[in-house]
Amino acid sequence: AAPRHAQSFEFSEDPSFWKDHNVQVIIRLRPLSSSEISVQGHGKCVRQETCQTITWTGHLESRFTFDLVADETVSQEKMFKVAGLPMVDNCMGGYNSCMFAYGQTGSGKTHTMLGDIEGGTRRHSVNCGITPRVFEYLFSRIQKEKEARKEEKIKFACKCSFLEIYNEQILDLLDPSSTNLQIREDVKKGIYVENLKEIEVASARDMLQQLIQGAANRKVAATNMNRASSRSHSVFTCIIESKWESQGVTHHRFARLNLVDLAGSERQKSSGAEGERLKEATNINKSLSTLGLVIMNLVSLSNGKSLHVPYRDSKLTFLLQDSLGGNSKTIIIANISPSLCCSLETLSTLKFAQRAKFIKNNAIINEDASGDVIVMRMQIQQLKKEVSRLH
Ligand code: ADP
Ligand code: MG
Repeated sequence: AAPRHAQSFEFSEDPSFWKDHNVQVIIRLRPLSSSEISVQGHGKCVRQETCQTITWTGHLESRFTFDLVADETVSQEKMFKVAGLPMVDNCMGGYNSCMFAYGQTGSGKTHTMLGDIEGGTRRHSVNCGITPRVFEYLFSRIQKEKEARKEEKIKFACKCSFLEIYNEQILDLLDPSSTNLQIREDVKKGIYVENLKEIEVASARDMLQQLIQGAANRKVAATNMNRASSRSHSVFTCIIESKWESQGVTHHRFARLNLVDLAGSERQKSSGAEGERLKEATNINKSLSTLGLVIMNLVSLSNGKSLHVPYRDSKLTFLLQDSLGGNSKTIIIANISPSLCCSLETLSTLKFAQRAKFIKNNAIINEDASGDVIVMRMQIQQLKKEVSRLH
């Protein structure tokens, strides 16, 4: 059969996509930049085979298979359709969802997640990334549900928050005076960030406004502290609640959508650093190295080995514990550069992505009709804790 390429890939075309509990992994290749072409010509370190396979063509060829391999011809709109749209559908169905962008600095994480955000949501610029498109689709779905389910008196409430993790400290990007926020765990609320601002929004435009403001605050913080934003992780969260009535019972549904732009995955150099600087250098990638370890141990767990999963060893993994082997539908977009000079970093990203593919999540609908579901969820959480204590 002729290889199918990602341009023709439709989410609904592939029956395996989201049908299992595994994390979905998408590779996105960016085009060679003009400076890369002028230095090394059109040579590349990878060769795409089909819409699901890619070969690394370094000193030894290695072939990798993923849920989707999107080459440089795949548009921002297409990326939204295969990755963003199903996330919103999941959330509307009451499932928590999470999207991570992984990859070395310059591989296209921010282009994928945000892209051109200044263009507004009404008329997308072609470079507008997944996040603003998610907002627009989310609110169009809400509008449709409201119209279709008038008898049930369905009501929606949306909130958003935006934070940054740098040097193992959490900064509220919607209220930059709030620094070093703490992560807490509560039987009812689950894992949450104490005192993090959650802003109520009524439209895609409102939500985009928060995103733009937060991104600007992130830039200011990076400049003031004299550091590159490529060394911090950012997490934008949409919280969607709905309430309706059916046969005299009030139903309540709840979902969180986390959109995560990770720090550059390249190794950080700490040579020559001392004191605070050294601590900072070792902390910078703590969240990322713990993420790697968490994934490694989850893979071993799925192979029947009993291992402690060190979620609490970093802010990122503690905060996003549910998205890694828990109650969430999760997509990882691993961004790679095809450039010859990035060959080893690209291989390392492909290997990371391949490991991540083994993570099994267990997403459940967050719905409460008579109180039963919530009680069961709490019992499940309690049991899970007891199981992990046994390990
Ligand atoms: P990262 O956030 O991973 O450091 P960026 O998203 O900032 O990387 O991308 C680096 C550069 O490459 C930017 O100029 C961006 O516009 C460009 N770029 C990345 N991915 C693509 C793509 N798929 N198509 C076109 N340009 C891209
Ligand atoms: Mg970036």
